Amino acid sequence: MTVNAIEKAAVEIPWMNELESIYDSMVEWRRYLHQYPELSYEESKTSAFIEDKLKSFGITDIRTNVGGFGIVAVIHGGKPGKTVALRADFDALPIDEETDVPYKSKVPGVMHACGHDGHTATLLGVAKVLYHHRKELAGNVVLIHQPAEENPPGGAQAMIKDGCLEGVDVVLGTHLWSALPIGTIGYHKGYFMAASDYINIKIQGKGGHGSAPQYSIDAVAVASQVVNQLQLIVSREVDPQKAAVVTIGKFQAGVAHNVIADTAFLEGTVRTFDETVRQKVKTELTNIVEKVCSAFHAEATVEYRFGYPAVYNHEKETALFKKTMDRTFEDKTIVEIAPQMGGEDFSYYLKEVPGTFWFTGAGNPDLEADYPHHHPKFNFDERVMLIAGKAFLSMVHQYLCSSGDKRLTEESNG
Ligand SMILES: [Zn+2]
Ligand SMILES: [Zn+2]
Repeated sequence: MTVNAIEKAAVEIPWMNELESIYDSMVEWRRYLHQYPELSYEESKTSAFIEDKLKSFGITDIRTNVGGFGIVAVIHGGKPGKTVALRADFDALPIDEETDVPYKSKVPGVMHACGHDGHTATLLGVAKVLYHHRKELAGNVVLIHQPAEENPPGGAQAMIKDGCLEGVDVVLGTHLWSALPIGTIGYHKGYFMAASDYINIKIQGKGGHGSAPQYSIDAVAVASQVVNQLQLIVSREVDPQKAAVVTIGKFQAGVAHNVIADTAFLEGTVRTFDETVRQKVKTELTNIVEKVCSAFHAEATVEYRFGYPAVYNHEKETALFKKTMDRTFEDKTIVEIAPQMGGEDFSYYLKEVPGTFWFTGAGNPDLEADYPHHHPKFNFDERVMLIAGKAFLSMVHQYLCSSGDKRLTEESNG
């Protein structure tokens, strides 16, 4: 399928063409943000940039410093109706950019390597179009510009505590995705992205001479057993119909080839969807580490830190999304994709309010835009902003405009 095919958006929604007319500005905003990335919890300038842009469009109902540097802006429709929230995150990552693009990061060691610059520019474009058409809306649109997605506890939870979802009936969000080709939209009903937890284990042995293990407690040997036994959690303890990952990504111990290590440090990540599986992995993991260590006379300290919960896409809203996308974009590139083991704090919004989160394809090898997210050479095909923006506009039209296809909403209800 061609990109042009999917860009040929629904003829019956004139807003789509308006988004195209401001596409150059969206690219400009994205490239500006890309050059001046800010880390999670430090995004003061990005937040000010967003506020400025929203004001320049004429939007006046803007709350700043919501749960940190978050911004909540409301576009009030001409008639009463539902309230739809659209969310975009805006933090960057501690990565030194290695691309050769002219708009490369000017901040050493910090890079927009996840595409949140694109999310922000997309939502700004959508905001501008929606504000222009506010009188046609039966209901309100809440724009959630969220900081600190990359680093738990994350901005979503803080913004919710600060009231960003008050009065909201449905919440929508997307991640641009380099692993999906441009022109594709990937959705999934139910569990879509995994809960992501952090583990930190210290194993205290007793150091000694490499020639005399009988007088020592070898932290390397014990930690190796721990790593091996932890792999049995997924294969022997978790329901085979349910997903879980236990990864030990860091193993540090020892100082010299002929010295028995005194301590070993392990760090890892646990990914699950189902909350009961998540709790079970935590219990089994703690149990295995403690029992294996005590069997070999070592002492264990286990820290299990819960990260973001799993993203659960609500059935009705996801069905409506799929139908609306089929109708909006002429080609059949709206595909159901498999759940991902990556994490996303959009999950917190979906725990409060029904909604759905999807991936908008942004990969294009011709533009060297096919590196994975968080890679120092990450980039995306910027036309994704147009596609994601049209998807947002089309969903708002569906929920808040009388000319939206009511059949779709009714069918999804039933
Ligand atoms: Zn990321
Ligand atoms: Zn991201």
